[in-house]
Amino acid sequence: MNRCQIITWLKQNDPIEIEKLEKWADDVRKQNVGEQIHLRGLVEFSNNCSRRCIYCGINAANIALQRYQMSRDEIVECAKTACDLGYGTVVLQSGENRKLDINFLADAIKEIKKTTGLAVTLSVGEWDRDIYKLWQQAGADRFLLRFETSNDELYRRLHPDSSKGVEERYEHLKMLKELGYEVGSGVMIGLPGQSYESLADDLLKFRQLDLDMIGTGPYIKHENTEIGRNIKKFLLDEENQVPASEGMTYKVFALARILCPKANIPATTALATLNPENGYEKALECGCNVIMPNITPMKYRQFYNLYQGKTCSEHLDFDMAIKKRIEKISRMPGVGKGASLRFLERTESEAIL
Ligand code: SAH
Repeated sequence: MNRCQIITWLKQNDPIEIEKLEKWADDVRKQNVGEQIHLRGLVEFSNNCSRRCIYCGINAANIALQRYQMSRDEIVECAKTACDLGYGTVVLQSGENRKLDINFLADAIKEIKKTTGLAVTLSVGEWDRDIYKLWQQAGADRFLLRFETSNDELYRRLHPDSSKGVEERYEHLKMLKELGYEVGSGVMIGLPGQSYESLADDLLKFRQLDLDMIGTGPYIKHENTEIGRNIKKFLLDEENQVPASEGMTYKVFALARILCPKANIPATTALATLNPENGYEKALECGCNVIMPNITPMKYRQFYNLYQGKTCSEHLDFDMAIKKRIEKISRMPGVGKGASLRFLERTESEAIL
C-alpha cells in the first residue's frame, strides 16, 4: 500500500468501503497474530514530569496538578495483582521525570521479575543509553516511546523542550532496538495541526521502523494545556485537519495492521474514552490484539489525567467485564507474555547468524 492509497483510505467516508478495510485488517490480524488478546497491566507509577508537551495534562507547566510517586512496594504489589489476574506483562508508565531515581526504578523492576516473572515494559520517556541498559539489566523487556507525529515542524511545536525534533525520537527508538528491547511506538490521531498527509507518513514510518508494538489513540483535549486553552489556534482548515474521531481511530488501527501484520496493536484507553460502550470490541475487530487494563491504585488515578474524561474503573471490575467482553466476540485472553512475533522472528534470525 502506497502513500497515496493510505491517504485515500484515511479520507474514505463510504461505510461500505470502510467495512471492507476493517474486514481486511481483521483477516490479516487473524492470519498473523491469531485470536488471543494479550492483557497488560498498566501501572501509572508517577505523574512527575519535567517536560512541557503542549497537549499533555501532566506536563510540567500544569502547576495546578497534585504530583505523586508510588513507592517500590506499591509498584510491586500492582505487578502481583497483574500476575494474579493472569496477565503476562506489567507496564510501568510515568511522566518523563529528570529527578527520577534511576536505581529506584531498577530495584522495582528486579523485584517484579523476582516475585512474578512477568514481562516488564517501560514507558517513561527519553533517557541515556546507559540508563536504558541499566533498566534492561534489571530485567526490563520492552519499551514504549511514541514519536507522536512524524511531521518535524508539528513535533517541534508540540514539544518545546526538544531541540533536535522528531529525528531524536527515532534515534532513541533505534538505540532501544539495538540494546535488544522489544520496541513500541505510535502517534496521536487528530492532533491539532495534523494533516492527512502527515498521518499517512506516520503509518509508513511504523512500517519502516519495524515496530513490535504500535500504540495509537485519538488526541483528547485537556483544559489545562496550551492546546486546550486555545485549540482553534492550532487547527488546520477543515479540509486538511484530521479529526480526532472514533471512526478515524479505527481506520488507523486497520491500516497499521495491514502495513505491520505481525505487530502487537493495543485497543487504547483514549479510544475507549471516546466509546466506553463497545470501543474495545470494535477495535479488536479491525486489527487490534492487545488491551492494557489500568491497575494503578484508585487513589492515584485522578492525578494521572493526560486528557479529559479518561475512563476509570476499579481493576477487578474492569478485569471481570473485559474478560466477558472478549469472550462475547469469540476471542480469548492471551496465554504467556505475548511477545511480539516480529521480535521473536528478529531475535531468532540473529541467533542463527
Ligand atoms: N512520559 C512518557 C509516557 C507518556 S503518556 C512518554 O513520554 O513516553 C503516554 C502517551 O499518552 C503519550 O505518548 C501520548 O501519545 C499520550 N497522550 C498524552 N496526552 C494526550 C492527550 N491529550 N490525548 C491523547 N493522548 C495523549
